[in-house]
Amino acid sequence: MNLEHNFAKLGDAFSSKTRIQPLFKQALVEFNQSLATSLSIDIHSTQTKQLLSGHQALSDSLSMVYAGHQFGGFSPQLGDGRGVLLGEIRDQHSVLYDLHMKGAGPTPYSRRGDGRAVLRSCIREYLASEAMAALSIPSTRALALYGSQETVYRERPEEGAMLLRVAEGHIRFGHFECFFYQGKQKELDQLIEYCLMHYYPDCLSSNAPLQNMLIEVVKRTAHLIAKWQAVGFQHGVMNTDNFSFTGETIDYGPYGFMEGYEPDWACNHSDYEGRYAFSRQPGVGLWNLNCLMRCFSKHLSKNQLIAILQHYEPELQSHYDQLMMKKMGLNDPEQLHTLLPPLLSILKAEKMDYTIFFRLLSQLRKGEFSLLLDEVVDRNQLTQWLMRYESERIRHGNEWSAISEKMKQINPKFILRNYLAHDVILAAEQGNYLPFRHLLEVLNTPFNEHETSNLLAQRAPNWVKSLEVSCSS
Ligand code: AMP
Ligand code: MG
Repeated sequence: MNLEHNFAKLGDAFSSKTRIQPLFKQALVEFNQSLATSLSIDIHSTQTKQLLSGHQALSDSLSMVYAGHQFGGFSPQLGDGRGVLLGEIRDQHSVLYDLHMKGAGPTPYSRRGDGRAVLRSCIREYLASEAMAALSIPSTRALALYGSQETVYRERPEEGAMLLRVAEGHIRFGHFECFFYQGKQKELDQLIEYCLMHYYPDCLSSNAPLQNMLIEVVKRTAHLIAKWQAVGFQHGVMNTDNFSFTGETIDYGPYGFMEGYEPDWACNHSDYEGRYAFSRQPGVGLWNLNCLMRCFSKHLSKNQLIAILQHYEPELQSHYDQLMMKKMGLNDPEQLHTLLPPLLSILKAEKMDYTIFFRLLSQLRKGEFSLLLDEVVDRNQLTQWLMRYESERIRHGNEWSAISEKMKQINPKFILRNYLAHDVILAAEQGNYLPFRHLLEVLNTPFNEHETSNLLAQRAPNWVKSLEVSCSS
């Protein structure tokens, strides 16, 4: 394994040397072979095993310092409180990826935390990151999961665990806020240079490198959030320290995938005001980008920064429209704009399962509405909508069965429902990882039928309403 230490070279102002502190009787319980292969990591080599598990110290492993706006308020000093960046590794195409261990033990930024993560939250992150990747949504990836016999205390005693994750970058909006608000201009410039070199090299050679890089960040963020909205993903804690400069979904806490369609849904029970509710995510993305732009107010004029931010809304809207057109088998934004709003009103009134609806829509045969109508109370309203929808699809001469096949490739049959995660966690806590592996396998190819796993495509049973997710992880 050829680790590089590019971030470490930035110097002491950016991080603190920190090593992984292995858990009591730590053991590898899951490993992502295909991801490892793409990074040329041989898990069977003794040196790799030792390094990844923390039993052999890496001289340049570190915890990063950053700040962030949390639920609207600024926290000047955050940082990896339980994460260690081992270094960077290149894939077969020479693209650099961070190797980062979560739950690795206390760091200088742990504040009152114990530096640990529990098995429950590591499994939730493992499943979510792989599910997102399979849905083509940029995300940190799960490379390995370690269980242990160490007790970690949350609301109850739980099993301590670690998750080794991979991302294009772990630099957050909060990294820039940290140096800007401390008035550390030199470090801010260094960080800009670092990001240009490693993440946005095309901008480096352009006539306005910083401006062009920021436009790219705005676009990547807009695309990311458009994808969340189209698939029904809710992040839960969209603080600026959880927003990646490379446009990846990062820091899975109390996230959720939409089941019954509810735009006001806020999966995080600690989010009392619904600040990060599903329908607010696009607006929060802009709010966070606004925080980020402020950090460059010494480099660029107010008008230049506003011009950069103005890329966000059209980019998000057009990307979302493209995705929704594909989900509905349409090819014209006009069609989408007449058909989507009334459909979402019906889904909302019926609290219809978002994923099941679109999957059934992919299977719709001309004039045969019963499969979908059986899902709703107000059959009349949906019949009228389906008739309009059908005539639009016919009017534009779409070849019905070919379009249906394409729709199935964007409308997943399987999403990570909260109750499914809950079930596999209960089993894993008893030492049985088979349900976890089975769910993971299905989520890795969520568009396939997996006929023998139909149970995993079903909506949540009623008791699930009492399941809560919070920040405690
Ligand atoms: P989050 O809301 O999970 O993004 O975490 C916010 C901050 O709290 C980050 O700086 C984390 O590293 C830190 N943090 C979360 N959990 C722990 C923990 N158990 N021990 C130490 N720091 C933590
Ligand atoms: Mg975080």
